[in-house]
Amino acid sequence: MRVKYFISFILLLLFSVTTFSQRKIDVLHYKFAIELNDSNDSIKGLATITFLVTEPTSSVSFDLADKGQKKKGMNIVSVDFPTRNALNPLVEHRNNKLLLTPYTGFKKGDTATVMINYEGIPSDGLIISKNQFGKRTFFGDNWPNRAHNWLPCVDDPADKASVEFIVTAPSHYQVISNGIQLEETNLPGNNKLTHWKEDVPLPTKVMVIGVADFAVQHAGFAGNCIPVSSWVYTENKKEGFYDYAIGKDILQWFINYIGPYAYPKLANVQSSTMFGGMENASAIFYADNTVNGERTEERLFAHEIVHQWFGNMATEKSFAHFWLSEGFATYLTHVYLESKYGTDSLNNRMQEDREAVLSFVKYAKRPVVDSTSDYMKLLNANSYQKGSWVLHMLRRQLGDSVFHKSIRDYYAQYAGKNAETKDLQKVFEHNSGKKLENFFQQWLHTPVNPQLEISWKYLPGNQKIELTVKQLQDAAPFELPLELALDMGKPRPKFEKIYISKKTETFILNTGSGLINIKTDPNTSLLFEAKLIRQ
Ligand SMILES: [Zn+2]
Repeated sequence: MRVKYFISFILLLLFSVTTFSQRKIDVLHYKFAIELNDSNDSIKGLATITFLVTEPTSSVSFDLADKGQKKKGMNIVSVDFPTRNALNPLVEHRNNKLLLTPYTGFKKGDTATVMINYEGIPSDGLIISKNQFGKRTFFGDNWPNRAHNWLPCVDDPADKASVEFIVTAPSHYQVISNGIQLEETNLPGNNKLTHWKEDVPLPTKVMVIGVADFAVQHAGFAGNCIPVSSWVYTENKKEGFYDYAIGKDILQWFINYIGPYAYPKLANVQSSTMFGGMENASAIFYADNTVNGERTEERLFAHEIVHQWFGNMATEKSFAHFWLSEGFATYLTHVYLESKYGTDSLNNRMQEDREAVLSFVKYAKRPVVDSTSDYMKLLNANSYQKGSWVLHMLRRQLGDSVFHKSIRDYYAQYAGKNAETKDLQKVFEHNSGKKLENFFQQWLHTPVNPQLEISWKYLPGNQKIELTVKQLQDAAPFELPLELALDMGKPRPKFEKIYISKKTETFILNTGSGLINIKTDPNTSLLFEAKLIRQ
C-alpha cells in the first residue's frame, strides 16, 4: 500500500488483541451478504462463516466492532449455528469482540458454520463518502486490521480464508470485489444484486468491495488469459481508461519475473479511501487523483501489483514481518523500473531511499522487524525503503541470478501461506550456499545503520595507501563489503572491494602512484553513511 495521509488510530487500538493462535479456530470461508442504500450510512450484513476447530473449546470468538452507546458500530440481530443445534447460542458482544457459545461445544477437527446477522453504521473499514465529483461511494479499507469495523471475522493476516461478497445496492452502482463475478441481477425497488467470489484464501486486510458509479473497461489479458479491467469514475472515464490501461503490461512483466498470477482477474479501481493505493486482492484501489490523462502512476501501479504476490499470496505471519510486504513491493518496483529505464535510474532511486532510511533512523530507533502493536507506525521508511535496501544488498552481494531465483522460490514456497523473516533467510541460504544469519540479524533486527569514518594516506614511496575504517554506530560492528573507486586521473577509476567486520580496521592497498581521490560505494550497493578523510 502507499500512504496518502495519516489519521489518528489511537482509539482503534484500545481494544484487546487476541492473536490467531489463541482463537482455537481457523476460518475456511466467509460469505458476506451486505445491503447498502442511498438514504443513510447504515448497512445490513449476514456473515456465513465456515471454520475448522483447531483446539477443543466451548466458545468461539470473532472480531466485530460493537456499537454500545456510540452512534456508529455494529449491532447483532441474530446468531445461528445451523448445523449444530436448534438452540440460540449465548452471544456476548463487547470490546469489539463477539464471543459465541453454542449449546454444545466444539471438538478439535470439527468443521462448523455460523450465521451472524448484524447491522449498523461502520465507524471505519467501509468508507462511505463522496468522491471528487460529489458522488456517493462505498469502499472497503481494511488494512491493517480494520475489517472488523464492518465484517465479523478473524482480523489477523495469519488466518486466511476464501471469501465471497453478495452486495445488494441501488441499481445505479457498479460493484467490484475480490475474485470473479458470479451474478449481477436487477431486483425490485431499483436495487441490484452483485455476487463476487474468490476461492484463493485471502487475509482480511485485502478483502474488499468498491461500490460507485463506475465506468468499466476491459483493458486486455495478461499471463494465462487473466482479464485486466479499469474501473474509473464515469466523469473522468476518458482519462481514466487511458491511465489505467498501463496495468495490463505491468502485470505481465511481474508474471514473467515472479511466477504465475494467482487470482482470476485484475481490476484497477479508482477509489476514495485513506490510502494513495491499496493492494486489495485482484481489485487494487488507487486514490481519486491518480487519474489525470498523463499516465503518471506507473510506479504506484507496479507497487500495488507486486503486492498481489508479496503481501496477498505470500503473506507475513504477523505485522512484525510487514517488510515482507512493503520491502518487496518497493524493491521489485525498482527492479521493474530498472528494466525499463536502466541501472542509473535504479541507483538514483536507491540513493533517494537511502536518504529516507538514514533520516528516519535519526528520530526513530527501531529495527525493521518491529513488534509494535501500533500497526500504523509500520508505515515507515524501515518497512518500505530499508526493506527494499535489504533485498538490494542481497542481490548485490549474492548476485543477480541467486537473487532472482530466491525471489521466485520464496514465492513458490509461500504462495497461499504465511511466512516470517527467517523463512526468507532459509531460501536465500539454500540458493547461495552461504550462512546469512549475521546479514539478517544486523540489517533487520538492529535499529541502526553503519556509520563509517574512512581515512586514508599515502605510505612512503607513494605506491600504497593505508586506509582505516572505523564503525561509529552505537551497536556491534557490521560485517559488510565496501566498494571503492580509486580515481587515478584516468578515464576509468580502479575498483577495490574490502570486507569490514571490526570496530576499527586498517587496510593496505597497492594503488600505485597518482591517486587523486577515493569514492565510496560507486555502484550504490550499500546502505550506510560515511565520512571520508584524506590525512
Ligand atoms: Zn505497499
